[in-house]
Amino acid sequence: MKLYTLKTEIDAVPVADDFIAIEAPRPDCPDGGIVARVIYLSLDPYVGSRLRGRHMGEAPPKPMEGAIPGAIVGQVVKSRAAGVSEGDFVHAMEGGWQEFAAIPAGHFRKLDPKSAPLRAHIGVLGMPGLTAWAGITQLAKVMAGDVVLIDAAAGAVGGTAGQIARIKGASKAVGIAGGPEKCRLVTETYGFDACIDYKAEGWQAALKEALPEGASVFFENVSAEMAMTALSVSQTYVRGVLCGLADAYQSSGPAPHALNAGAIIGKRAQLRGLVVYDFYSRWDEYAAEAAAWIRDGKLAFAEDHADGLDQAPALFAKLMRGANVGKPIITVSEE
Ligand code: NDP
Repeated sequence: MKLYTLKTEIDAVPVADDFIAIEAPRPDCPDGGIVARVIYLSLDPYVGSRLRGRHMGEAPPKPMEGAIPGAIVGQVVKSRAAGVSEGDFVHAMEGGWQEFAAIPAGHFRKLDPKSAPLRAHIGVLGMPGLTAWAGITQLAKVMAGDVVLIDAAAGAVGGTAGQIARIKGASKAVGIAGGPEKCRLVTETYGFDACIDYKAEGWQAALKEALPEGASVFFENVSAEMAMTALSVSQTYVRGVLCGLADAYQSSGPAPHALNAGAIIGKRAQLRGLVVYDFYSRWDEYAAEAAAWIRDGKLAFAEDHADGLDQAPALFAKLMRGANVGKPIITVSEE
């Protein structure tokens, strides 16, 4: 079978040429685990830092050996797990850029293919969606009347966060995104009330204008500098969720911007750091609730999609440049 691996160790922002396809034997089925045929592969920002050994202490894949890490949706072709049969569909965080993946006991979730499109489990019902739900409902505890500000709003996390905020009663969701195409997605597909293109001139003034009442919640995906901008257009006692630093992941030195303690004190802000791992035990509950929102037309999702495992390096490089519009997803094989 084919898998994609690193050509050599890297210490810079990954580009398509850092990856190479190799042939490897199909994996054996672990005790209590499964082997899955990979159908959909997820490409996520954290993998860029993980490839350099800089993500939450997790080991990078071995060059010319291990598959690049990535979440998958797949179909079981061998099972030694109780209650799991050949033909069942599963989601696993540690699937990888490969045609078949061995998943150990306890590291996969069985999916109901009738509850939602299978591919939705990569993004809106997958790890990015769970992250959005955790930040909005468990940390910020968004309620009726909240005014919510979210950056990287065209992405799977940001776009889902804004929609869940509105479902939970927020009176307004304002997004920040890079470029008119992303902003159209944010307002027209995700239904945010406004989206500010931070690459356009005068965007900070436009942001103030879009939030005359001030944000009561902000959800940060990009940088400490952007979090400080969000704070500057927020109400006192704002609740801020610090979810990601997409602008800093690939830098080699220290993060370029620090949080301003004086501004945080002045706003009496409550800031909460978010790590989605803490919410994995709530995943099935979230996915069931969100699948119903999708069926009811309340929760939309968008994909930056490519066909075939060979497209993974180029689509991943696009994600690393921040050029993806929606959730990057690779179809590896037919449903
Ligand atoms: P996105 O699809 O939103 O992709 C990241 C986006 O970040 C880009 O599209 C771009 O959007 C923005 N960006 C800004 N500066 C840069 C830069 N220098 N390089 C690359 N991208 C940049 O990804 P996700 O929806 O999957 O994730 C959103 C955030 O949530 C990320 O920071 C991610 O790491 C984080 N996250 C955190 C988790 C946690 O447990 N804390 C779990 C899952 C995700 P734009 O052009 O609009 O600025």
